[in-house]
Amino acid sequence: MSEREVFIGFGSNLGDRCFLINQALQALSDLPTISLKKLSSLYETAPVGYLEQGVFLNGVVLVKVSLSAFELLERLLCIENSLGRVRKERWGPRTIDLDILFYGDQKIDEVDLIVPHPELAKRIFVLEPLNEIAPAWLHPGFGGTISELLNQYKLKHPEEEPCRIVAASPGVALNEVKDGIFYRYG
Ligand code: AMP
Repeated sequence: MSEREVFIGFGSNLGDRCFLINQALQALSDLPTISLKKLSSLYETAPVGYLEQGVFLNGVVLVKVSLSAFELLERLLCIENSLGRVRKERWGPRTIDLDILFYGDQKIDEVDLIVPHPELAKRIFVLEPLNEIAPAWLHPGFGGTISELLNQYKLKHPEEEPCRIVAASPGVALNEVKDGIFYRYG
């Protein structure tokens, strides 16, 4: 199967968030069919929806994948489960959340998988890290770039506090994410 460029969004607001994110990235890079290419900084954001919960850490990783989107989703759900995620409220607290944001330039609209991720243009904590690592990436549904989407978002939400970078990524292309990458830059 040919390789695709895929963006995966990650977030955590329960437990040792940084450690859990590192574990999830490590589990991703351990999969033989996935290689990690570029990692955003870590951003801290207030929760959306269900507000009585801890502050989130979020980021985005670009990977190259030779799996179908559905196979990839299955692997992501396994990683979430192995890191102790229990689903209760829809937007409730989670040890780790992994979302497929883009799967190449493909559009998928199935019951259990929608790509590009339908919420991505409404989430500053996804747009900011995406813009950091791929500002010129074209959203196949919207037809514009990530930086255009982010600008539109900011125009629409002038009052909203920007999300805060809590750990800068090394800003270089990565072939492999080493354990503890965010600790070194935090
Ligand atoms: P949540 O953990 O609340 O993000 O929801 C996870 C569920 O959303 C998964 O079980 C998927 O079936 C479904 N889903 C739909 N589209 C996506 C996507 N692009 N990435 C990840 N999960 C998705």
